[in-house]
Amino acid sequence: MSARVLVVDDILTNVKLLEAKLSAEYFDVASASNGPDALRLCATGAVDIVLLDVMMPGMDGFEVCRRLKASAQTAHIPVVMVTALDQPSDRLKGLDAGADDFLTKPLDDTALFARVRSLARLKAMTDELRSRALASRDLGISDPIAAAASDAGDRASILIVDDRVSSSERIRGALDKLHMVEIEADPHKGLVRAAEGGFELVIVSLGLADFDGLRLCTQLRSLERTRNSAILMVGETEDRMRILRGLELGVHDFLVRPVDRNELLARVKTQVKRKRYADRLRDGVQTSIEMAVTDQLTGLHNRRYLETHFAGLFDESAIRARDLAVLMLDIDKFKSVNDGYGHDAGDDVLREFARRVKDATRIVDVVARMGGEEVVVVLPETSLHAAAAVAERIRAQIEGSPFAIYGGASQIPVTVSIGVSSRRAGDLGPAQMMKRADEALYRAKGEGRNRVIAAAA
Ligand code: GH3
Ligand code: MG
Ligand code: MG
Repeated sequence: MSARVLVVDDILTNVKLLEAKLSAEYFDVASASNGPDALRLCATGAVDIVLLDVMMPGMDGFEVCRRLKASAQTAHIPVVMVTALDQPSDRLKGLDAGADDFLTKPLDDTALFARVRSLARLKAMTDELRSRALASRDLGISDPIAAAASDAGDRASILIVDDRVSSSERIRGALDKLHMVEIEADPHKGLVRAAEGGFELVIVSLGLADFDGLRLCTQLRSLERTRNSAILMVGETEDRMRILRGLELGVHDFLVRPVDRNELLARVKTQVKRKRYADRLRDGVQTSIEMAVTDQLTGLHNRRYLETHFAGLFDESAIRARDLAVLMLDIDKFKSVNDGYGHDAGDDVLREFARRVKDATRIVDVVARMGGEEVVVVLPETSLHAAAAVAERIRAQIEGSPFAIYGGASQIPVTVSIGVSSRRAGDLGPAQMMKRADEALYRAKGEGRNRVIAAAA
């Protein structure tokens, strides 16, 4: 899918020109002739990148950019400011307003396309994270987006890889007050430090004496532990083609020497904010996935997880003609624990029960709390006989030593009854296995509890 670029300019010929260029490169182009229209279009969610003219009557480009970046709804849309004036103060004003980059008219096509393509890629990635985060927000679990959009982008951990002391010290000098900065002169060590140090941003010189800085950038982009770090290239004017290549390869931003101190600060801030935004979304999604499949009291998997995974394990064992067994566990007379010692003590028993069951099973076994004091264990590649042995081991572990309650101030005996079943050739799904295990459990209860009963194979 091609990215949709919104061109904002009050002069129609400028719009037409950019429209023609971008369409020829297969971008999908929309346009607006003033700030308020641009903001409205962006709020609809249909815009991937904004090319924003600075000088417009009414609301100027800086203000449009500030408003886009201030709203959680639009803060993630990359903005490139476009102006006729190549004034450092204008660049800065734009970057301070939160712009992701700055291009000057007349536009250099190669630079324009490289920039738009690289921002489009980033945007696609952010969109993916956003949609997952929105899904978790809809589950009522958390709202990572609002939190993510509000980061100030300071106090970042930054690694500079540069073998020229004067240059690296200069950059550090500019960043020191706001961030935690370290320097590495050796690019090989730089890669290792970046992987081990968990830096949020790595600044790489393209002028390293015996090493291609661009190669270091791509290595950083591909390593698991540095993949999500922001990367900023620093090069000379002559490095232009390498810089554009870097953008193609996924490097996030660049600076051209002599490095302007304020521009450096602004670009670092933008990259740090972008990185943290993505991190927050990722963490939010991760947490909500974990919460969605985990039982909060015991930390075991929940029923929802069991249902999906048991079905998968069942199909796999049927296709490969492998064993599959299931245990159904139910604490004996658990109601009397609650009645005699209180609900909190009951919770303590449940947690300890979960821990002992977990300890007695393998990593590949699925241990899930079905609700109440019932736990189900699915044992892949395990025969009925072997599963009954596991069940007996669990039963002995539960009976073997009393359970601590009241923070260890007291101890009570606990026992468990367990029903066991295994997959039969004619079974159509997990439900039939569960039913036999449940019937076996019921018999175990009826025959006096604290025992294991296996259904016929
Ligand atoms: P049996 O030996 O027949 O299984 O007797 P039981 O008392 O264990 O069986 P029953 O199913 O009647 O009681 C289960 C009790 O578990 C009732 C309920 O209050 C309690 N329970 C369910 N969930 C929780 C929980 O999260 N925490 C605590 N403390 N108790 C729970
Ligand atoms: Mg019970
Ligand atoms: Mg019960």
